[in-house]
Amino acid sequence: MSQITGTTKLLGVIGNPIAHSLSPVMHNAAIESLGLDYRYVPFSVTPAHLATALDGFAAIGVVGCSVTIPHKQTIVPLLTEITPLAKAVGAVNTIWNTPTGWQGTNTDVAGFVSPLVAMKRDWAQTTVAVLGNGGAARAVVAGCHQLGCGNIHVFGRDVAKLAEFKSSWQDIRLTVDGDDSPRSVTIQTHLWDELATFISQANLLLVNSTPIGMYPDVENSPISAQMMPEIGAGSIAYDLIYTPRPTKFLQLATARGMMAIDGVEMLVQQGAIAFELWLQQAAPIDIMRQTLLQHLQLDP
Ligand code: NAP
Repeated sequence: MSQITGTTKLLGVIGNPIAHSLSPVMHNAAIESLGLDYRYVPFSVTPAHLATALDGFAAIGVVGCSVTIPHKQTIVPLLTEITPLAKAVGAVNTIWNTPTGWQGTNTDVAGFVSPLVAMKRDWAQTTVAVLGNGGAARAVVAGCHQLGCGNIHVFGRDVAKLAEFKSSWQDIRLTVDGDDSPRSVTIQTHLWDELATFISQANLLLVNSTPIGMYPDVENSPISAQMMPEIGAGSIAYDLIYTPRPTKFLQLATARGMMAIDGVEMLVQQGAIAFELWLQQAAPIDIMRQTLLQHLQLDP
């Protein structure tokens, strides 16, 4: 990698904890492959220090940052501008420094849809079951709306959180691919125990946006082995988790003959879009993917 000199510029990721983030390894590999005079650094920032950290980063000329847990929502009021998509999702995962302050967007939505857009599928005829109603589920809902999915159903375990999730989408209008006029985002919410009867319909997109099955909880799946045979024909299993690969959910789905998608591509693509925003040049996506996969193999 080129030496750090007086002209080296900084990018980074803000989170807490941050030691296990794979973003530094992915972005520094991209920077190195293009011979850029940049470094991407993990910044451990507590919630109490977020505003001070942003002021400090602006003062020292940090070009842009990824934003991760626990700051994706709380950073919003500290930014001078956010994109309509980030506003709809209610979370920012990418910020960049401008003369008028920090601006932000959400690249998780585009990251999530990236493995789906390439598929030749009639999304209007696809019913979505989103498992979980946390932060990632919001990006999934926005992404499925953008794809033009016919019916979006969200499953959760807490009635109050589900109701809050549903009402938060009430006044949101987002564009759908191939149509410039924004449309209301319509979702239905259900408790988990309704899932068993729901999954028998054909052409489902089942998205796990819970941590069930994530390392070290590797023996668990949000859809049990007993429920798998009930899933309708032509359905897709998409797990946002990328450790382990594959998760129990995707192992069961593959055994059932379903198409299975894991969270690696979402991680790569959200990073690549951020890289392009900061550096105004094409991201070396193959290198970013390859670097991530190498690290995931070494460190599950
Ligand atoms: P989050 O905001 O904490 O939301 C987690 C959701 O899962 C909540 O709705 C929670 O329900 C539910 N949940 C947790 N444990 C559960 C259980 N045992 N049974 C039923 N529901 C359960 O987390 P997040 O940021 O959305 O992340 C969710 C997952 O997506 C994580 O595994 C994360 O690694 C992954 N992710 C991947 C990417 C990627 O780039 N591939 C990006 C973002 C996230 P309650 O609200 O009721 O607690």
